[in-house]
Amino acid sequence: MPQACPCNPSIAYAACCQPLHEGRFAAASAEALMRSRYSAYVLGLRDYLLATWHPDTRPAALDLDDSPDLRWLGLDVKRHADAGDGSAVVEFVARYKVGSTPAVRLHEVSRFARVDGRWYYLDGEFPV
Ligand SMILES: [Zn+2]
Repeated sequence: MPQACPCNPSIAYAACCQPLHEGRFAAASAEALMRSRYSAYVLGLRDYLLATWHPDTRPAALDLDDSPDLRWLGLDVKRHADAGDGSAVVEFVARYKVGSTPAVRLHEVSRFARVDGRWYYLDGEFPV
């Protein structure tokens, strides 16, 4: 049984986000980039997260929560809207849990921008 991709348990990691994480090719859409960034959070791939952050909004450093108690529960992409002008929006819900506390629901509307043919994460809003 191949390792399942963190972003989609029904697809093998090697056929989903791994080629993006290894830089073998660029994300074909903002949604694919968003999924690969979720997987990178799950796998603790800090360099990938920084490399796919738009230079205008990229933090100088990124501290990932590497607590062994943190467990990502899954990703649900709600909406992907590509405006066709190099900008796109992806709305998603990610769930995680820390220890035995109740699961936390992270609902974000992320903005992406394409620069020289590559998608980058710009920023996100958290709808209530
Ligand atoms: Zn994936």
